[in-house]
Amino acid sequence: MTGTRIASWDQLLALPVRGESFLLRRSHYAVLVDGGWKKDKVRSVLATHFPAIGKLDIVVCTHGDGDHAGGLPDLLKNWPGQIGQVWLPGRWADVVPDLMKDPKGFVKRLLRELDGIIGANKPDPVVSSPFDRFVGADDQTAAETFRTDEDLSIRRDGDDEAPFREEEDRYGAEIDLGATEPIDEPTWFDELRKAVNLPGDEVASRAFESARSSIKYRERKLRLSAGAATGWLGVIDTVEAIRGIANAAIARKLRVRWFDYRAFETTRRPSGGVPGFLEPINAREQAPAPLYANLLLRLTEINRHSLVFFAPPTITRLGVLLCGDSPLGDGSKFATSFLSSTARPRYPIVSTAPHHGAETNSAAYQHMRGWADIIVLVRAGGSSSQPGQTFKSLKWPLKVCATCPATRRAAHIAGVASAGPDWWYPLVIVGKPCACA
Ligand SMILES: [Zn+2]
Ligand SMILES: [Zn+2]
Repeated sequence: MTGTRIASWDQLLALPVRGESFLLRRSHYAVLVDGGWKKDKVRSVLATHFPAIGKLDIVVCTHGDGDHAGGLPDLLKNWPGQIGQVWLPGRWADVVPDLMKDPKGFVKRLLRELDGIIGANKPDPVVSSPFDRFVGADDQTAAETFRTDEDLSIRRDGDDEAPFREEEDRYGAEIDLGATEPIDEPTWFDELRKAVNLPGDEVASRAFESARSSIKYRERKLRLSAGAATGWLGVIDTVEAIRGIANAAIARKLRVRWFDYRAFETTRRPSGGVPGFLEPINAREQAPAPLYANLLLRLTEINRHSLVFFAPPTITRLGVLLCGDSPLGDGSKFATSFLSSTARPRYPIVSTAPHHGAETNSAAYQHMRGWADIIVLVRAGGSSSQPGQTFKSLKWPLKVCATCPATRRAAHIAGVASAGPDWWYPLVIVGKPCACA
């Protein structure tokens, strides 16, 4: 331990927005993971509560759901501070090019697919999944095919626990977030950066608004159930957020890094990020080529595969698992843990509550506990049906919520802060303990 080091406060804080937005501070770096809903300006929350933050070193979007991605376009576009890098889901490759070039045509095609579903009286993939509205038809087969990969013989779930990682303390001023091997920008994104005359925000907003009216019209005419309409309005929120994020990244010339869930799903080996600082758990950093012709299929895949990131602990640094809406596993009942692909953390860590503590993600707690000592769970966002019974009945770890639906109190900052040098002592709980139970 270096006695001379000036202790800085590592923090994991759920921000007081509706939806989910976490601020992770490690050493002198600030990372924002997700941005809550569009209406709650995460930008003004940062200005009010963290005026001293002049730079967000990394802004992460775990997936395209409106309660995670909705607030990011405004932040990326209008936040007066510096923004270092933006980390995005690689599968957005399937929608970003068309969406940027022709938002109006994009939503038109989307609505035509909706009408196809209504007309044929087919089950609506947007509402048929209990997990998060979405089912990707060919997922299962893709995953099965590749799982015979020889790499997996040593990493397969059910094997002995992954080894502990030997983590040197390489923080402080030394770690350089930009110094990690740059992955080449995908051609399709580079083309967008160079494109002139991409439709502007106004054109795009009008397209999204008209799509919303069309969906509501179909609901009024009883061609869509209320539930289906909500699901489809959610798809439009996703589309709008993705476009806004990509557009702001281009306008501001931000460095974008893409994390592909699919590539992890088939190889079970996460890669990329900034090793030792913020690493993907269920993705590989690479630039995926667009895959799908069918718009709906493209969009339905996006939200199921929420990215998960891990900030590994050291003797002096807070370790954090950032779950997004992921169940932390796949396969039947999500029983195959994503975490077994990553070495076990040597010290206790804190974690965000997966999917706002939803019962659909209850498998995640097993996966977490089998992998690390979790001492605090930080919960944010979600609907009144969240958190579920499993989250509520957990006696350990300690739980803090940015807002507990049961109490109806306004969202407040909740999380942990540690002064170091031994980060777990003292570990300070920020906000009120959970009253969800
Ligand atoms: Zn969510
Ligand atoms: Zn609570």
